[in-house]
Amino acid sequence: MKWRRSRGPDDAVRLRQEMVEQQIRRRGLRDELVLKAMLAVPRHLFVPAEWIGEAYGDHALPIGHGQTISQPYIVALMTSLLEPAPGVRVLEIGTGSGYQAAVLAACGARVWSIERIPELTEFARRNLAAAGYLERVRLRVADGSKGWPQEAPFDRVILTAGAPDLPEAVVDQLAAGGLIVAPLGSYGLQTIYRYRETAGRLEREAIEGARFVPLIESEVRSSAKEQGGKEEERKEP
Ligand code: SAH
Repeated sequence: MKWRRSRGPDDAVRLRQEMVEQQIRRRGLRDELVLKAMLAVPRHLFVPAEWIGEAYGDHALPIGHGQTISQPYIVALMTSLLEPAPGVRVLEIGTGSGYQAAVLAACGARVWSIERIPELTEFARRNLAAAGYLERVRLRVADGSKGWPQEAPFDRVILTAGAPDLPEAVVDQLAAGGLIVAPLGSYGLQTIYRYRETAGRLEREAIEGARFVPLIESEVRSSAKEQGGKEEERKEP
């Protein structure tokens, strides 16, 4: 069954139940907090109108500007690897549609999310507001590889764009005992890793292969760069 605009909210609920059962639980993910969040967040509010019929499909979708919203299973997997809990502070690099941020917020986390493409930050802001999660998510247009020093340290960090290595700033901004989940590797083909900070050391665990759009460093529009990053919700006077 596909989502159609003419269908009501009950159909979207049924589609999410199917998504959780067939795409996520069936692949062995049993984290109840995360499964509940995936059931709660209306994914169709995070995809462009022309893709709404595919919103609950078992794949990534285009969101414009050459970027994508990740496959539901990958979002669930990465969320679960982050061991979310109420009140946990999460830094997300690569806001995109805002869907991953919403799923983290639905797990009770507070999210600071950075995106380099201003139009996508706007898209995410609208989507998060429509879905009712904007209160728990702060958005910023900046190069996420620099992290968000003013708000550090973070209990958790998630990269949703593929990078050759972990950006140094992200490691510096991680709280003691924190976790980082990141797809690392070459262009178009990465491995999802989880890092755990224990007694001043980062231990790395390889999880599984994935394909993410690339993390692009230091190429934020000049206006945002000059301000050292501009927070979307604070308008210039
Ligand atoms: N988490 C998103 C998926 C994001 S796709 C979702 O749930 O929809 C990866 C995003 O990372 C893209 O929007 C891309 O523009 C952004 N990105 C790439 N390099 C970046 C950087 N250096 N800083 C911030 N965002 C970046």
